[in-house]
Amino acid sequence: MKRFLSAALAVFASSCFAGTPDLPSCDSWQPAASCNYQNASRPTSSAINYVIIHKVEGSAAGAASWFQNCAAGVSAHFAFNNSTGYCYQCVQEADIAWHCINRNTNGVGIEHGGYTNTNDVATVCYDESALETKSCCIYYTVAYDRSHIQGHSEVPGNSHTDPGPYWNWTYYMSKCNPAGGTITPKSYIDDTPAVSANWITGTSAADKYGADYKYRSTAALSDAATWTSTLANGGSYDISAWWSAGTNRSATAPYILPNGATVSKNQQANGGAWNLLGTQSLGAGAQTTKLSCWTTTGFVVVADAINYYGPK
Ligand SMILES: [Zn+2]
Repeated sequence: MKRFLSAALAVFASSCFAGTPDLPSCDSWQPAASCNYQNASRPTSSAINYVIIHKVEGSAAGAASWFQNCAAGVSAHFAFNNSTGYCYQCVQEADIAWHCINRNTNGVGIEHGGYTNTNDVATVCYDESALETKSCCIYYTVAYDRSHIQGHSEVPGNSHTDPGPYWNWTYYMSKCNPAGGTITPKSYIDDTPAVSANWITGTSAADKYGADYKYRSTAALSDAATWTSTLANGGSYDISAWWSAGTNRSATAPYILPNGATVSKNQQANGGAWNLLGTQSLGAGAQTTKLSCWTTTGFVVVADAINYYGPK
């Protein structure tokens, strides 16, 4: 069954026929040589649960051409020109392309022209590629998160480093959101930081968040409390901390934000409220904020709760 028969995409059906790309939004059908992929009948023969993002280390046109040479031994379903967003489909989604160890059987592989260590992907390329990923989320019910929409480098068993540090996951995930439209901002609160045995559970402070909080003495060593929240969508988030205030608290409690920046807060004041630590652009998936104890000794740091509010 072709994907264009899905209700969500039926609007495109009239322009499709056998032998064309799965999506009419892909500009050209440039089939890979049959020696470079495995015939299959997915999603019946095997489920499609992943979309894998690649960079070519060259041009998309060059990749599509290489996939037609049996010397390649590799292929991908799609290749997008990194400057124009022009799309080559090289393998039908029903078939198994060879692009990523441990994800070929259950994945759709998308190549992008350009180089892993170069910031060379235009917005239009992200947009066109995200349209394809979004359709996989809708039609094959690929989970819309960073555990299922992955970079080649993120899949265990692979030594490749693509799509690399410049791939804009925040933007890409926002564009391939299968729900579409505007995402309503919301709070992601973690009230149960992960701590070592050196942290003590407190319950007596009236201005605590929830049932309890953790605290420990400041010391010149690494023993941070760690909060983790799993964000459904990428975007800009306000990151705030809640503590119970007191004169024995540190005036320089060092919070470490998801991007690694450290922000010092005075826990002797402003207890019982959300205090903004910073605003950051975060990708969907797990994000962590930490509270270090490594600051001026003679006080305690209080690890109560962290709130991510967004995307804004
Ligand atoms: Zn790759």
